[in-house]
Amino acid sequence: MKDQYGRAITYLRLSVTELCNLRCRYCMPAGGICKLSHDQLLSEEEMLQAVRTAAQLGITKVRITGGEPLTKPNILSICRGVAQTPGIEDTALTTNGTRLPELAVPLREAGIRRLNISLDTLNADRYASMTRLGRLEDALRGIEAALDAGFERVKINTVLIGGFNEDEVPALADLTRRWPVDVRFIELMPMPGNTEFGPESYIPVDRVLEQLPEAEAEAEDGVARLYRLPGAQGHVGLISPLSREFCGTCNRIRLTADGRLKPCLHSADEISIKGLDAAGMLERMREAILAKPRCHGELSAVSRSQSVRAMNQIGG
Ligand code: SAM
Ligand code: SF4
Repeated sequence: MKDQYGRAITYLRLSVTELCNLRCRYCMPAGGICKLSHDQLLSEEEMLQAVRTAAQLGITKVRITGGEPLTKPNILSICRGVAQTPGIEDTALTTNGTRLPELAVPLREAGIRRLNISLDTLNADRYASMTRLGRLEDALRGIEAALDAGFERVKINTVLIGGFNEDEVPALADLTRRWPVDVRFIELMPMPGNTEFGPESYIPVDRVLEQLPEAEAEAEDGVARLYRLPGAQGHVGLISPLSREFCGTCNRIRLTADGRLKPCLHSADEISIKGLDAAGMLERMREAILAKPRCHGELSAVSRSQSVRAMNQIGG
């Protein structure tokens, strides 16, 4: 289905949980979040009904996210259900990777074709400090497990943060030589809750190119501008929600774990589908697609996202 600005909406981001085994400083408060009760959350059947409804409206691609989707006890059954939905051609998942050593093979078998794994640093102390609870070695073992499990594509997502990992750009980009992966640098977004980051943290991804003079430009891929280092197996990607927004080609809607459709990541608008039958969901999903704004307002350290939710509650 097209929205009122003519954009075909073909991509659903399905958040299956707000919970996470890490507490990344830009995403979640230190103490975690108030756990929603069972009946506030979408059931597995409601999630799958929402995916069937989305497919009826022309959605062909679903990305499962969270919170950390691999902390959800029934994650394999959800993945299987999404991947088997008629009309859904591509099922992908975003994860911090720490549970992939056990789950990579079962996820592949459940029908997940592509994985995005988040990794902001190759320094163990920095990893522990930014994630508050995580160990770098678990994330690296997770990436290796994903590569061994035979996913069609594995991408590494790195949030570029001034004063934190800017000096690691060459080492992180070099992972595209070590492994058949894309490494995509993403600008830090000023979401509610991550106010500990000052203006110096918000740096444009074009700074990445200053540190990679040998990178050659290649085509664009959705929201990412792609480059390749000599001898690399994968691309270096730049995703710039702040410095060059890509709203004109936005093709997605989001569904939160408590059943709110978000027409735009950075808007406060939400439309609930919790408790509705198939016909009710169809009507609300149409409404959500038509409610997509042309663009979100300016984003910067001082002009923050209008979303009332932190990233773990939306599904990044
Ligand atoms: N837990 C999974 C993970 O970390 O990949 C999936 C959910 S997480 C919210 C999805 C992505 O959002 C991660 O790559 C994370 O780095 C990114 N993210 C979270 N908060 C962000 C922010 N304020 N700005 C930019 N990216 C952010
Ligand atoms: Fe958890 Fe992912 Fe948010 Fe980090 S970015 S706290 S891993 S949901």
